[in-house]
Amino acid sequence: MTAQVLDGKALASQLREEVAAASKRLAERGITPGLAVVLVGDDPASQIYVRHKERAAKECGVTALDYRRDADISQEELLALILELNADENVHGILVQLPLPDGLDASPILDAIDPAKDVDGFHPDNIGRLAQGRPRFVAATPKGCMTLLAKANVELAGKNAVVVGRSNIVGKPMAMLLTNANASVTLCHSHTKDLAAEIGRADVVVAAVGKVNAVRAEWLKPGAVVIDVGMNRDENGKLCGDVQYEESLAVASAITPVPGGVGPMTIASLMQNVVLAAS
Ligand code: NDP
Repeated sequence: MTAQVLDGKALASQLREEVAAASKRLAERGITPGLAVVLVGDDPASQIYVRHKERAAKECGVTALDYRRDADISQEELLALILELNADENVHGILVQLPLPDGLDASPILDAIDPAKDVDGFHPDNIGRLAQGRPRFVAATPKGCMTLLAKANVELAGKNAVVVGRSNIVGKPMAMLLTNANASVTLCHSHTKDLAAEIGRADVVVAAVGKVNAVRAEWLKPGAVVIDVGMNRDENGKLCGDVQYEESLAVASAITPVPGGVGPMTIASLMQNVVLAAS
């Protein structure tokens, strides 16, 4: 078997075109979607992510409004900025780039974002809505994974899905989305006793761990669909996912590459959320 490679780069490009068309329709009604991007400190990886998001925003007809703050900003000052953005009618979506520098507590900041502007889908209101099966804003990475699965016509109802990783931004919302799509979902994490056995039963595997080779090809059920969220560097500094990619090509029926899989879908899904917020 040679797995179908799920091309997130191509699909994301198509999504950005659709978002740009939706933005244009909004512009005709006098609305320009605005995304406030809050970046605190000078973490190089965060700067790259923000640059990618701002570039995608431009392509999608979304105005990215840059709010850069020094790492020594106080919790109160950052909170005040969020409240100001909540009240700003030109701002439809608010994104706080994570992680925040040491000394700042992200949870109260994210909780302060108006849920109607929470395009990252991290606010407890939006997570709660997703848990109840009536989502509004869904976190961009799991949303992008679901779009990839849908476009590949992967049937989820009645299937066994295993999500590896239970973060609030990827693993947990991913498990909720798969549950809402009628899959039987197992959520694994660092305390899971026998990850190989769990993965061996899975028709769909979503890996969101952050470790090279966290999911081994020999654990996969033949024909499994594999979504690799991980973004890691191997021993040669090359970008790679959590799943043994080359070896899995012979076992899986479909798999996302890294790079070019989930990463571009995350950014395109964020832009979908901004346009949704503006409309
Ligand atoms: P976190 O570090 O927040 O979560 C990692 C999860 O993996 C935790 O739940 C942890 O378990 C679990 N875990 C760690 N080791 C093991 C193990 N050996 N076996 C099973 N589970 C394990 O990471 P994120 O969710 O933020 O990100 C995960 C990966 O996805 C990273 O590589 C990140 O860079 C990437 N990412 C990619 C994005 C994209 O757009 N492509 C977007 C966001 C993230 P426990 O809870 O018990 O500690």
